[in-house]
Amino acid sequence: MFEGVLIKAYGGFYYVKKGDEIWECTLRGKFRLDKSSSAALVGDRVKVTPIRGNTGRIDEVLPRKTQLFRPPVANIEQAVIVFAVQDPEPNLTLLDRFLVLAEHANVDPVVCLNKADLMSGRREHDWLKLYRKIGYQTVITSTKNGDGIEELRQLLVGKTSVFAGPSGVGKSSLLNAVQPGLALKTGEISSKLKRGKHTTRHVELLPLQMGGFVMDSPGFSSLDLPPMQREELTYYFPEFANFIGDCKFNGCLHYHEPCCAVKQAVQQGLINEGRHQNYLAFLEEVIQQERRY
Ligand code: GDP
Ligand code: ZN
Repeated sequence: MFEGVLIKAYGGFYYVKKGDEIWECTLRGKFRLDKSSSAALVGDRVKVTPIRGNTGRIDEVLPRKTQLFRPPVANIEQAVIVFAVQDPEPNLTLLDRFLVLAEHANVDPVVCLNKADLMSGRREHDWLKLYRKIGYQTVITSTKNGDGIEELRQLLVGKTSVFAGPSGVGKSSLLNAVQPGLALKTGEISSKLKRGKHTTRHVELLPLQMGGFVMDSPGFSSLDLPPMQREELTYYFPEFANFIGDCKFNGCLHYHEPCCAVKQAVQQGLINEGRHQNYLAFLEEVIQQERRY
């Protein structure tokens, strides 16, 4: 038996990478009976019994560190959340939503600002500074002049990452800049193709020459917030942590409550107002969801 990484499931076969070899495997019967259909997911570390040639049977799925549901993939460690300087304009509410999704899934976010070549002057975007100050890893890139590409590459080494972000920000271009040929095509044609492909959804991990994997399609295809307790949302806004201990009420939601240290911090400019507003909008959503369950 050997251990490998399940990188693709297709036509009833499971493709397991072990070093430079790819093994075509079937799944042991007891897993197939599992109705949850998450018996073996792309990204899983699995134990394989060789049968003949480069074929084998998956006999064991090792415990998962993380699991995304849409798309279904296991053991993603990092989400590179990409926005562009312009074209399209960054949408910070969407960024905050991606950050909540990543934090909830226990996936480390990296905020990537692409199309740096379109920055007027050399002034760094204030919003990026804000996210860096909160403690998020950030990187500024351009696939046109190569800025930041080496830095991005280093962030991917040895890890399993997804790229996330609105279409048109340069996700495919970045993958190709990191490793030529990694993403098949860029531009409008590919986004049309991608849309067509989504009906027969498949997920694949693409091995990086320098070690590590990236997922072939953007992570977090559903932008619905995951089901959670309303009190939980606070923890996905890490900069609130310094203040919540001083809120008067236990379980303060930093909304209508009096003597809320978080709201005070917003008034004093210690917490960004836009972030607090997005928090409130998400809180509303989480409360609506609670009602539905
Ligand atoms: P995706 O939809 O996020 O995968 O974005 P694409 O990689 O398909 O890129 C969308 C468009 O942005 C294409 O026309 C790219 O040539 C362009 N683009 C990508 N990266 C950059 C960049 O760093 N600077 C500029 N100016 N354009 C870029
Ligand atoms: Zn509060």
